[in-house]
Order: sequence, then C-alpha cells, then structure tokens
Amino acid sequence: MAKYNWNLQTLEKRLNDYFEFYKNETDHNKRENIWKDIITLHHFVKKEYPDYFDENDACFESINYKNELFNDYEDYKQRLEEIRFLEDDLKKFYQISSDKSYNLPVKITCNLTEDEILILTHDFYEQLNPYFYKNFMKNFRRRKNHVRFIDKENSPCDEGRMFFLKNTKEAFLQIGTDGTFRDLFTTIHEYGHSTSAQINPSHLNPEKELYSEIDSIFMELIAYDFFDRELNNYAGTIEKAHYHETYSSIAEKANAIISLANLEKKLGTSFRYDKNSDYSFVLNAVTNLSTEINDYFYVTSYIFALELYDLYKKDKEKALDTLKKIILLDGNSEKQFYDDILDLGITPNASLEKFQNDLDKEVEKTKKLIK
Ligand SMILES: [Zn+2]
Repeated sequence: MAKYNWNLQTLEKRLNDYFEFYKNETDHNKRENIWKDIITLHHFVKKEYPDYFDENDACFESINYKNELFNDYEDYKQRLEEIRFLEDDLKKFYQISSDKSYNLPVKITCNLTEDEILILTHDFYEQLNPYFYKNFMKNFRRRKNHVRFIDKENSPCDEGRMFFLKNTKEAFLQIGTDGTFRDLFTTIHEYGHSTSAQINPSHLNPEKELYSEIDSIFMELIAYDFFDRELNNYAGTIEKAHYHETYSSIAEKANAIISLANLEKKLGTSFRYDKNSDYSFVLNAVTNLSTEINDYFYVTSYIFALELYDLYKKDKEKALDTLKKIILLDGNSEKQFYDDILDLGITPNASLEKFQNDLDKEVEKTKKLIK
C-alpha cells in the first residue's frame, strides 16, 4: 500500500465537481479558466484510464463540442471582420447563387494514366499563350522528379498540393488521384499555382492568400470547357456545377456569421455558450463550419476568377494579360490588392447571373446525355 496515492474515484469526483462549477459560473473569464482545468483533467484521466470515458463521456462531449463551436464562431467572426471590405460582394454572390442544387453525379471515372494526365495538362497549357506556356514549361520540364501522384484511397490527402522553393525556382507538386477526371483538373490546378510562382514567387505570400486561388480556379474553369470540347464529354460541366454549389454554400455560411456578428453589435451582447441561454441559432450557423473556415480564400478567389473566365470567353488575350497583372501585383494589404484588382477592370459578380444561366443550360444538356 503506497503511503501517498490518489485513485480514479478521486479524479472522477473532481471532474464532476468541475462540471458543476462550470455550469453554475456566470462570469465568462472564470468559466474559461474552469474549462481549462476540465480539459487538463479530462486528458489526464483519458490517458491513465482509457476505458473510463467510454461510458462517461457523453456529458463532457456535449459541453466540449458546443464550446468548440463557439470558439470557431469567434475565430471566424474575427477573420471576417478583417475583410469587411468584401462583405457586399460575398453577400451578393451568395444571394445570386444560393439554392443551387444541380443533382449531378460528382465523379466520372476515366482511369487516365499518369502520362496521359501530364500530356493533357501540357496540351492545355500549350494552347493558352506563349507567356503562360513558357512559365508552365519551367516546371513541366522537371516533372520526372518534381511531380508525384498519390492514390487518395491508400493515402488520403488533399486533392493537390504545391510548394515552391524560391532560391532554385523549383516547384514540387503532389496530386491526389482517384481514377476520375478530377485527377486531370487537380493537375491543371496545381500547375496553375506553380506557373504563377514562376511569374512572381511572392504571389504565394500569405498576405495575398485571399486572391491566391484566382489563377488556379480560372485555369480549371477554362479547362472544363476545353476538355469537354476536346474529349467530347461532360466531365468539365459536372466539375463546374459541383464547385459552384460548394463555393456558394461556403459563402452562405460566411454570410450567416456576418449577420450574427451584426446582430450582436445591434443588441450590444455577446453570443457565448451558456446553459441558461438558447443560442442554438449560433450553433446551427457554426455547425460543420470549422472544416470550411480554412477554405474561405477559395470563395474570395472564385468571385474574381469567374469574372476573368467571362472576359476570357470574350477576349482570351485580354483575360490572360489581366491574370498576369494580378499575379504580378505586390503589396501587403488585403484591401490594397482588392482595389488593385478592381482597377484592372475585374468586378466581382458583374457576370454572375450570366454565368449561372449558361451553367443551367449546360447542366440540362448534360443530364440528357447521362440518361
Ligand atoms: Zn489551389
């Protein structure tokens, strides 16, 4: 018998005490401190007595989950506050694009080989213009030991990744594959990033993140049309519709957060987790959001990429020249980049209604072909 000891019962009692303290405390800062101790205790017990929480976790999980959602809400709100200058554009984007559900299959199997994917990617960049082709080739030439394909099933990874070494101007690309046409579009997407990196390595700087996907999303948009035409299929239309739905849903959630933040200001209150208040509307708005917070820059890029895409259909060279200028923009203010892109003649949402009408027609046509 040890002289000094404590046992699971002691910890269990402490944990229950703390849950009670937490529930009854109204001061926010004190609650937060109590919560930190609960977390410490929870981690410790979980490690020492792995079986304990199997039966007793329900209470903890429910409070923990809600608490985390409220933390997500605070983070997201703070980030959106920093980019208020985009509020109207995002609101308009989601208002026009909401309620879109195309009910198309997401995946079209094609089982292209790695060589075939690379040849098609090369063909696509070759027909853009000499400037983009030249910069694309700086990376493509090194493909033998600078690109790798990873089976999504065996090694779940993001669809694609690219990192660029500025000193040697080397891009390394990783493409997650699943045997669908997505593999081709992911490759085109990542080559879009690496081409921009050759044009201006600082295009990848964090302060430009909101606009960092314009190039690659734009390349995908025109590649959807290019390959539907070249390969005489409809995989591109399906991708276009799928991503339009996805970006629209992220924008809609962002708008819900902005509305809540505005409401908080108006009421002079703060939505925090509290057993006495029913803030279920906050929870509803934030549920499933955490996975999308990090994807937000895809939406801010998409609203510009769509306008470049519209321009491309009217004047290919002008669109590519404008993209080149966007890539060459340097600076450190998110608002300044926004103003600069507008000065280049790219206005978010200007062609959105037309884009959707065209997409609706393409989708109708595709549905008939699938049948
Ligand atoms: Zn990307």
